[in-house]
Amino acid sequence: DRKKKNTAVLVIGLGRFGAATAGQLDRLDREVLAVDENMELVQKWSERITHAVQADVTKIEALEQIGARDFRTAVVAVGSSIEASVLITANLVDLGVEQIWAKAISKSHGKILERIGANHVIYPEAEAGERVAHLLSGQLLDFVEIDPDFAIVKLHPPRVLAGKTLTESGVRGTSKVTVVGVKKPGESFTFATAETLIDSGDEILVSGHPSDIERFAALPK
Ligand code: ADP
Repeated sequence: DRKKKNTAVLVIGLGRFGAATAGQLDRLDREVLAVDENMELVQKWSERITHAVQADVTKIEALEQIGARDFRTAVVAVGSSIEASVLITANLVDLGVEQIWAKAISKSHGKILERIGANHVIYPEAEAGERVAHLLSGQLLDFVEIDPDFAIVKLHPPRVLAGKTLTESGVRGTSKVTVVGVKKPGESFTFATAETLIDSGDEILVSGHPSDIERFAALPK
C-alpha cells in the first residue's frame, strides 16, 4: 500500500483554468505538481508554480512516471480537447486517485466525466455566466451556490423585513430562508439573531434553497 500525498494536488493542463488553479494553490502553500504537454507553457509557469513538468498524460505510462498514483487529489483542467480530458480522467481513476476534479465545456462532456468517475465536475463558463445573470438582475449583490440545493446570497432586505426583528417578520416560516448575517451601512457583517432588527438600508446574507432565495429576493424592496 503506497502512501498518498494527502495535501498535494496534481493539476493537468496549464491553460487559463489550470494555470489559475495551480497558481492559487501555490500561493496558498499547497504543494502542486502542474503538467502540460506544451513545453512553452510549462516554462512560462515554472517561475510561479514550484513544480511544473512537461508530459502528454493521455498515456497512462506518462502519468505513472510523474507519480500520479501518489496523489489523492487531481484537477483535470483540459477542456478544449474532450478526448484528452476523458482519457486523462479515466487514467486517473485507473491509478486510484481518489478525488478527481474535472473541467467540462458542455453538459454532455460533464456527464461523461461523471460516468467514468470524476468526483467533481466544474463548468467554469456556464457557472460564471449564471452568476453574472444573477448579479445583473439587480436583486442580488452577491451569490454563491454551495450545492444544487443550497445557496448563500447578499441582498438588500425586502420591505417585509424592514423595521422588524427577524422574529417579528418570521421570515424563516414564510419564505423558508434563513438570514445569517446583517451589515449596517459603514459597519461590518455580524451574525443575525432572533432579535436582530433589520433596516431597509442594510445588506443581509441569506441562506437556503436557490428557488426559495429567488422568490424571497423578488419580494418588493
Ligand atoms: P483553458 O480553456 O482553461 O485555457 P484549454 O483546454 O484551452 O484550457 O487548455 C488545456 C491545456 O491542457 C493546454 O495547455 C494543453 O496543452 C493541455 N493539454 C491538453 N492535452 C493534454 C495532454 N494530453 N497532456 C497534457 N496536457 C494536455
